[in-house]
Formats: sequence, structure tokens, C-alpha cells
Amino acid sequence: MDDARRRVPRTDAVLADPRLAGALERLGRATVKSAVAAAQQRCRDATISPADVVPAVLAALPARATGLRPVINATGVLLHTNLGRAPLSDAARDAILTAAGTVDVELDLATGRRARRGRSALTALAGAICDAEAVHVVNNNAAALVLAATALAADREIVISRGELVEIGDGFRLPDLLTSTGARLREVGTTNRTGRADYLEAIGPRTAMVLKVHPSNFVVSGFTSTVPVSELAGIGVPVVVDVGSGLLAPHAAIPDEPDVASALRAGADLVTASGDKLLGGPQAGLIAGRADLVEALRRHPLARALRVDKLTLAALEATLTGPRTPTAQALQATTASLLQRATALAARLTDRGIDAHAVPTRAAVGGGGAPGVQLASGGVSVPPDLADPLLAGDPAVLGRLTDGRCVLDLFAVPSTGDDALGEAVLAAANRSAGLGRA
Ligand SMILES: *Cc1c(COP(=O)(O)O)cnc(C)c1O
Repeated sequence: MDDARRRVPRTDAVLADPRLAGALERLGRATVKSAVAAAQQRCRDATISPADVVPAVLAALPARATGLRPVINATGVLLHTNLGRAPLSDAARDAILTAAGTVDVELDLATGRRARRGRSALTALAGAICDAEAVHVVNNNAAALVLAATALAADREIVISRGELVEIGDGFRLPDLLTSTGARLREVGTTNRTGRADYLEAIGPRTAMVLKVHPSNFVVSGFTSTVPVSELAGIGVPVVVDVGSGLLAPHAAIPDEPDVASALRAGADLVTASGDKLLGGPQAGLIAGRADLVEALRRHPLARALRVDKLTLAALEATLTGPRTPTAQALQATTASLLQRATALAARLTDRGIDAHAVPTRAAVGGGGAPGVQLASGGVSVPPDLADPLLAGDPAVLGRLTDGRCVLDLFAVPSTGDDALGEAVLAAANRSAGLGRA
């Protein structure tokens, strides 16, 4: 025992080992040091030999300086809120790296003077929404709604249909969000039916705005009626429309999904939307519409607390001006191409001894977009006992358990990601076989 302890390599000696130099640079001294302490303890316990301390440290160290682990989204849900919604384009990732340093986010390099924060991103957004007189960006769509309610309707009333009092997820409800600003809600109509007359009747001296919220995560069918934005336009108070998904223009694959341009053309005074849903960009709240209203929001003290950082501005600009986003590409993929990818991947896995076959699947937009819409897709069916090992991998793979099988839907997997998915399945199968033997 004493002998073993004496042979435990000293901390400074281990930390000075050249094999740990990269890890020290990547992860920092504190993280490496705690892994060293754990390995020394194992050495003291004689479960590893002194020569194995450095390899044990390397094996125990995390791959990166964040606890976030990459996940291959094989759920068939394109915008998975638990997976961070839209994956960014390479252009947006690159823009984030640029913005990570010191940049001219609020400085005019031509004059050396302070300039409008994030002006190139705002110019890109204005260019992408030609129907808007002005635009602004905040932290997310919820922030956009809070800012609109605070700046336009504090101590006054927001007229809203009872069919549009939406819970957006994780227990957060838009009505609570809106009333937290001091605005009061004047609910009109019923859950299933609201007419123009309901709005007209409710509008009075205390009304600050009419709010239309897209029911983005549920469908009401049967005996229903809602009032289109065009019938509310010019109703006497600002009409604010939360379109939800951030689709800038109509999309053929999801024809019923509202978009920013159509809402503005229909007469909305202000439109709000998310940046990380169908727009395919970073988390952000997009605000577009009448110049005086946008300015009122932008100038409100609360706007400072809701402003986005330089990383978001950079990624948003690249999303708007750069190549098609992974989200747009997924929406455009044909069912035939998805099934073809599934067949090829299944064949490769079968060759390596895995019980895999291609299956037709039903994918969804998810994340508050195109509720109830099913999109024909393709996937690879593998044994269900691979589901847990797939989650344990790096990257992890999240599939879907269907009919006693684990189905890996390719809808949300970029077409360039099939190799990585195949490797992850093989690695999971290896781990699973290893566990089986143990
Ligand atoms: C998703 C969604 C929100 C919330 O947007 P965040 O960007 O997540 O804050 C609000 N309204 C609608 C209609 C939505 O679909």
C-alpha cells in the first residue's frame, strides 16, 4: 500500500506530461487537474498502474469545454426544441467564429465613431422583408411579444381571440407572458370560433392593440372560424401578428404555415417571429412592420434587456444572406431521395452485421411550425436495444421507438450526415456488444 502510494506520480509531473499539453490548452487547468486527481486515486487504489495515469486522464477528459454534446437528430422532427431547434448553416457557424473575437458590432471603422449596433444584420433582415418599413431583433419571439406588449400596451388592453391563448411549451403560456407586462387581455370569441364582430365589439378607448397569435403547435378542426389578418387591418388600433415560425415567405411544402411577408401584405402593423424555427437561424425574435411602432419598441428601456449579442447578429445575417440553411434543405428534400439515402445506409449497416432495413416514415416540422402536417420521409430501422447505446455516443443519436424498433429518420439529418450517422450506429452496436459480454 505505502509502496503503491509512493509510486503514484506527482500532480505537477503528470500535468507537465507533453501528452496532456493539448488538453490543458483546450479544457483549462482546473478540468485537467481534477481528472489527474481521479486517476491518481485509482493508482493509489491499485486499479491502474503508475504508467497508466496519463492515459487514464486522457480517457476521462471531456471532448470539449462544454457539457453540451452533439446529437444527430434522427427523430424525424425537423425543429426539435430539446435539441436546440434549427441547426445553423456552415456560413452562420463561420460568422459566429468571426464575431467571437472583437468586431465592429457597434463601431463605424470608416469614421472611428460609434455606429448602430448590428447594422449589417439589420440591413440583411430589412432586405429579406421588403414589405416592412422597419425591423428590429431581440432575444427570441417571446421577448418580441413582451417588448410589443410593454411598449404599446402597458396599463391598457390587448384584444386577443380565445382560440389563440397558446401555451408554447415547458409550462410557458403566452397570456401569462403578455399580462406580466402590465397589459390586460381582452379575450374575444370562443376556443373554436372568433369573428370580426367580436374584435370590433371589444375595441374601445382602453384598447392598445389587437394581437393575432398563430396556433403553431396544435390544430383545431371541425366547427371553427378565425379572422384573417386582412379583415383586421385598419381596425383602428395596431394589429400585431405573431406568425411563430419565422418563415419569411410562403413555402410550397407547408402551404398553411403563415409567413412574415404575407402577414405584412395583409395589413399587419407589426409582425413577430422566431429566428430558430423555419428561418433556420439562431435563437432570435424578429420584429418587422410600421416604422413608428418599431421605433417605439427599439427606444423602450426594456429593449436594452432583450437585445441580442454579436454572435446572434452574425449568425442571423449569414442565415439571411448566405446559402440555403439545413432547415430549408430538409424541407426541399424529396421523399424518393430520403428513401434512397435510407436504403444506402441500411445496406452499409447490414454489410457490417447490423439488423437494419430502410422504412418509409412520417416526419414533422415540430418546434412550433406546421402543426398536424406529416411529411413523407425515409429512415433506417435498427434493433431497439441500440437506442440507449446510441444516446450514449459522441455524437449521440436520438431516434424514435416505433413498433418495437428504433427508427432513425433521415428527414432532419443533413444529406452530408449519413456517414456520421452510420459510424455512430456501428459504434453503438460495438458498445452494446461489449456490454452484452460484460
Ligand atoms: C415558438 C413560438 C413562440 C415562442 O418563440 P420563442 O422564439 O421560442 O420565444 C411564440 N409564439 C408562437 C406562435 C410560436 O410558435
